[in-house]
Amino acid sequence: MLKLIRFLKPYAGFAAAVLVLIFFQTMAELYLPTLMSDIVDKGIYNGDTSYIIKIGGFMLLVAAGSGICTILASYLSSKAASAFGRDIRRELFIKGESFSLHEFDKVGTSSMITRTTNDITQVQQVTIMMMRFMIGAPIMAIGGFIMALSKDRKLTLVFAVSIPVLIMLIVIVAKKAMPLFKSMQVKIDKINGVLRENLTGIRVIRAFNRIDDEKRRFNEASLDLTETAIKVNKMMAFVMPVMMLVMNFTSIAIIWFGGKRIDLGEMQVGDMMAFIQYAMHIMFSFLMVAMMFVMIPRAEASAVRINEILEMEPEIVDPESPNKADRERGYVEFRNVTFSYPGAEQPAIENISFSAKPGETTAIIGGTGSGKSTLISLIPRFYDIQSGSILVDGVDVREMTQENLRSKIGFVPQKAVLFTGTIADNIRYGKEEASDEEVRHAAEVSQSADFISKMKEGYDSLISQGGNNVSGGQKQRLSIARALVRKPEIYIFDDSFSALDFKTDAKLRKALKSETKDATVIIVAQRVSTVMDADRIIVLDEGKIVGIGKHKELLQNNEVYREIVSSQLSEEELA
Ligand code: ADP
Ligand code: MG
Repeated sequence: MLKLIRFLKPYAGFAAAVLVLIFFQTMAELYLPTLMSDIVDKGIYNGDTSYIIKIGGFMLLVAAGSGICTILASYLSSKAASAFGRDIRRELFIKGESFSLHEFDKVGTSSMITRTTNDITQVQQVTIMMMRFMIGAPIMAIGGFIMALSKDRKLTLVFAVSIPVLIMLIVIVAKKAMPLFKSMQVKIDKINGVLRENLTGIRVIRAFNRIDDEKRRFNEASLDLTETAIKVNKMMAFVMPVMMLVMNFTSIAIIWFGGKRIDLGEMQVGDMMAFIQYAMHIMFSFLMVAMMFVMIPRAEASAVRINEILEMEPEIVDPESPNKADRERGYVEFRNVTFSYPGAEQPAIENISFSAKPGETTAIIGGTGSGKSTLISLIPRFYDIQSGSILVDGVDVREMTQENLRSKIGFVPQKAVLFTGTIADNIRYGKEEASDEEVRHAAEVSQSADFISKMKEGYDSLISQGGNNVSGGQKQRLSIARALVRKPEIYIFDDSFSALDFKTDAKLRKALKSETKDATVIIVAQRVSTVMDADRIIVLDEGKIVGIGKHKELLQNNEVYREIVSSQLSEEELA
């Protein structure tokens, strides 16, 4: 929690104003019972109506002043806390954007969402509470005690019993509730996780008739959270009445003993009434402190989770003095590259060396899990390698800024991802300032123009979230168009033709050829027909290169390649 305070700094003025207002409000509240006791003891007792009206009017003024202070304090503290929450949220989001895929794997998407929403709300709420009560409650308790003492010394002995009881209650609650609050946040994560998976996987769930199982899974997670929440609330429900009981017993005790003292002529009625009010103020302050003790651990748990993200050092950072890499265009070279995913025993790719030049097509072929996607994800530096080096335009990818590096690359991922927006928006994602003409051209080359023109609104047709309203092959073609519109130095296609039928595949590759004739093209593919006329085919097997060469050469002297080919092409095609 303390670490997050720095986000409150810009709003220190607000916070200070709140504290001052609260101070005045507290003072006013402390003053009112004394005025009241004056009215009783001096006004009513002596039957002095003008005195009653005078002091009564003054009381009204003080009460109004206190009310105004309270309203202003509420307003300012809410304002400061919302701004504080907004700033943390922004910071979290920015941090998330800088994460490499490793860090995302570590935190998990759903936890990231809970942290940017629910956790921040918790912290925000407690910030308001703290501003309002952190200072107010102690002043009220101490001031109330002093005022009570001034009204009657002996009667304050009542507090010797009631206050320890209250403190004990607070400590017990804080101790018991703390671990429960911590686990509650984790459980909210879990619900978010289940919900996310359900919403994104709804088609699979329906197709496999898993709705009931998913319902059960959600109910379990939900019930788990409910039970914990009920446990916590039961505790609260128990504590509040007990506190009220203590308070009311204190009043009874004050009236009992105060009555006796009035009988003996040692105390006045008004003083006793004021004393009861001070007692209430003191106890209420303790109640507020108790509430804070309940809220703070919960917010603390949230603050820790927020800080975890804020303090994560992104593994992939830009170098301090980046190399611009502007001497050459489109050169990609792997030198003895070995990379393993964190926690994996075997390297995902090992000792990879090859180079690709502009105007050439390099194809990578290999079975599933052979490391093709891993290999190409290293070029835009999605991950950092353990040994060897990857050069783009003659410069190590770790020596240039990520922005510079990625601006050279048109990347078409294996899993096509589209964003909510129109088709044109999605294509322009590759190059914001692309003209309509450029967008249309990219669509034509990627063989998307046909299906786009068949859609009702053409390029202005809306793509729904996740691109669910276009087919897999259409998605792939749109994400190819997105890469094409950039006119990058290096094209990377990760299995981007797999969802296309053979005819479209052939047409697309033909159109691509003239489009990319000055660029470096790296194609990952399953189909031999896709890679056959590449300038260089790299055959991957279990993360290692088992052959590099042209189709004809590999066919003659590479066993793995021959196996792949013979599983796909007929004898005539081979010849
Ligand atoms: P391909 O694209 O050739 O099908 P991949 O490059 O996707 O293969 O995967 C190569 C290997 O790396 C596989 O064994 C896979 O289990 C592993 N792998 C892929 N992605 C991750 C990841 N994010 N974390 C850990 N291991 C991974
Ligand atoms: Mg792959």
